[in-house]
Amino acid sequence: MRAIGIDIGGSSVKFTAVDANDKILKHFAIPTDTTQSAAAFAAQLAVAVNMLKAGFKDKNIALGVGLPGDTDHQKGILRWAPNIPWRNFKIKALLEMTTGCRCFVSNDANMAAWGVHAKELKYKYQNIIVITLGTGVGGGLVIDGKLYNGAMGAAGEIGHTKIDFSPRAPLCGCGNRGCLEAYCGAAGIRRAALRAARKEPRSALAGLIKKEGFSVKILSAAARAGDKTALALWHDVGVNLGRGLANMILMLNPQAVVLAGGVSRGAEYFQGAIKKVFSAQSVKTPFENVNLLISREEDIGAAGAALYAAAKADEK
Ligand SMILES: [Zn+2]
Repeated sequence: MRAIGIDIGGSSVKFTAVDANDKILKHFAIPTDTTQSAAAFAAQLAVAVNMLKAGFKDKNIALGVGLPGDTDHQKGILRWAPNIPWRNFKIKALLEMTTGCRCFVSNDANMAAWGVHAKELKYKYQNIIVITLGTGVGGGLVIDGKLYNGAMGAAGEIGHTKIDFSPRAPLCGCGNRGCLEAYCGAAGIRRAALRAARKEPRSALAGLIKKEGFSVKILSAAARAGDKTALALWHDVGVNLGRGLANMILMLNPQAVVLAGGVSRGAEYFQGAIKKVFSAQSVKTPFENVNLLISREEDIGAAGAALYAAAKADEK
């Protein structure tokens, strides 16, 4: 075994062990128990890591941790997170002490981006933007083959870049208005869908929402059936995502933009709108040379953390 990756989420913690050829050896999850102290939680992680280590001969194992919030990637501290209670959690120091592994940490979206780069795309591109479209919208950047953390570890907050400055722009989970996340995260899409269903009560979408409640899946199902209301909603997602991505593409000139997360499962209904926004741009070169890809990996965060740790350990 070469490295272990840990993806810490609000409801579960996922572990993935990889070998020197980036092959996944083991993967499992445990629930996140946020009723305990940060130290007790770190001790629980260490027990799992040490159990994994015990099964392998190689003891020179790197540890990567993806954290669900504002992370100091250099010191290895989770400063703050929306869904877990621990503040200034010195996770790198605690895990290095209790496991003997060298530990590398980053924000979870960054680790997922590395997972797409290393595992899914097999290092094919040196410059990519990965955007995770879940309840919220996160992002990660690989620039010149390296994960870009920024000065304080806070790079890649793509979801809170603004695409609408009007005072009536929809509210984002962060408290501001007009963020990309308010349009392209599942929570924002849900709000738009409920509004559309009230306006078009006889649409297939309204019927499905009444029967099952809203989900990205039923929005896709309605679109598949040709429902105009659902297709218009997906089109709006594409236009808004296209606008947000266009700004990033102009800034970074990536080889690929990869859409991941639950909302990306509806990509067949909105990627055309994204491409239209791209082709309408005046500066042509970065848009003619960018690949718009959809991630097929369901669970890339822990593998990304493991592969990132292995790469970082090899650096020095
Ligand atoms: Zn926001």
